[in-house]
Amino acid sequence: MIDHSGKGLWHATYGDYEPSAPLRGAVEADVAIVGGGFTGIATAYHLLKAEPSLRVVVLEGEAVGFGASGRNGSFAMTVVGLGLDLLVKMKGRERALAAHRYMERAVDTVGELVAAEGLDCDYIRPGFLRMATTPAYERRIRREIELAHSLGIEGIEWLDRDAARARVGSDRYRGAWWEPRTALVNPLKLVREMKRVVVGLGATVHERSPVRSIARPGPFLLGTAGGSVAAERIVLATNAYSHLLPPLRRKQVPAWTYVIATEPLSGEQLAPIGWEGREGVEDARNLIHYYRRTPDDRLLMGGGPVGLGFGRGMDRDSGPAAWAHLEAHVRDLFPSLAGARVTHRWGGPFSVTTDLTPAIGYLGDPRAVYSVGCIGHGVSMTHLNGQTIRDLVLERDTELTRHWLVNRRVVPWPPEPVRLGVSAAIRAYLGLEDRIHERPAPG
Ligand SMILES: Cc1cc2nc3c(=O)[nH]c(=O)nc-3n(C[C@H](O)[C@H](O)[C@H](O)COP(=O)(O)OP(=O)(O)OC[C@H]3O[C@@H](n4cnc5c(N)ncnc54)[C@H](O)[C@@H]3O)c2cc1C
Repeated sequence: MIDHSGKGLWHATYGDYEPSAPLRGAVEADVAIVGGGFTGIATAYHLLKAEPSLRVVVLEGEAVGFGASGRNGSFAMTVVGLGLDLLVKMKGRERALAAHRYMERAVDTVGELVAAEGLDCDYIRPGFLRMATTPAYERRIRREIELAHSLGIEGIEWLDRDAARARVGSDRYRGAWWEPRTALVNPLKLVREMKRVVVGLGATVHERSPVRSIARPGPFLLGTAGGSVAAERIVLATNAYSHLLPPLRRKQVPAWTYVIATEPLSGEQLAPIGWEGREGVEDARNLIHYYRRTPDDRLLMGGGPVGLGFGRGMDRDSGPAAWAHLEAHVRDLFPSLAGARVTHRWGGPFSVTTDLTPAIGYLGDPRAVYSVGCIGHGVSMTHLNGQTIRDLVLERDTELTRHWLVNRRVVPWPPEPVRLGVSAAIRAYLGLEDRIHERPAPG
């Protein structure tokens, strides 16, 4: 048995979990995947669906879902990086639209997988509200909706104040971005259900098997404390931990986002809020707040202050300042929840590239594939990335492998201590912009 109950609501309420046996001895594989999160498990799934005879081995350092995949806010949505506006500014209109289309397909992919495989993961597709909480955020959201429409994106509309509050009741809301194409899941159940399916398809999953060395005497040789895998091809699905592997050292850095969940709320506490549709909600900040009503009627809220790491350190899962900020924000939005007890507090690392945009591709040559940089928006994306990585591994030239997000050059992060300086500067800038958007109007 393994106890990760301190890693958040999803872990604490999962029940007993018996991880698969660690790797022992020397084994061979056609494809070895490092990392048992959504990316690694989805890749195994799509590879085995395409070529059932492949020998696929997944090596997970802790337990499937230990990383961001088992701790996240649970929104499967179309957002890429920090959103459409920034993407257009950085990459241009054509690429921003192509990325949005990729994400639309990604959201649909999650629903299709759940239906096709009968995954028991509390999947619902209630849609998404980006609430405007100040006049400046209202202008930002309206501009972004116009931008989306000018790109030809459909299915996103402005809800006025009354319509927004009729869905979720808070005096802070001035209107909202409404987008039906968003699903919510129990992410830990989702990834472990997917593990069940890939094992059924023939994959071998080893947990408690951190990869400590990657050598390449001929085929790749992945070493763990108890064994080794010789593999023709490898996939590094290590996301925010990727800088710990020498070949990926400067492709991404980890940052931490923090989450709280209340006790199950009473009918009296929920009555002023409504929220019968159980929509996923965010606001329009850079350092967003994201929140949902769980199946057992807790309020789960994440976001606000982001934590940064230094060097190889990954010990940032505790965020007392961020948790206090989130508790204050719950009270500010929903006075009826002032007395609600917070029962779970946690944090987890997400992966950031220098241009705040995901990157998937070959690492030197087609026998090694990596995926990093989904930032806080990988729940949907990783599931389509599993198909993209399948095509890369099988060296297929497809619409997915030709996408601009694939095999693109990303400026590497500088070494420490400059790296920390750069990430702190980005965080400070994002926070400053938020404060400007939250200033009271003059007069
Ligand atoms: C708190 C939080 C909230 C978030 N909320 C949302 C949200 O609401 N919506 C959304 O779209 N996205 C959200 N995200 C981001 C999303 O969860 C991630 O983008 C996604 O889960 C990434 O999946 P992954 O499989 O690539 O990485 P991970 O799930 O992090 O998996 C990587 C795995 O690799 C393993 N590993 C690392 N190194 C090694 C090694 N050397 N050997 C073996 N195994 C190794 C780790 O143990 C880990 O299990 C959030 C992230 C966090 C942290």
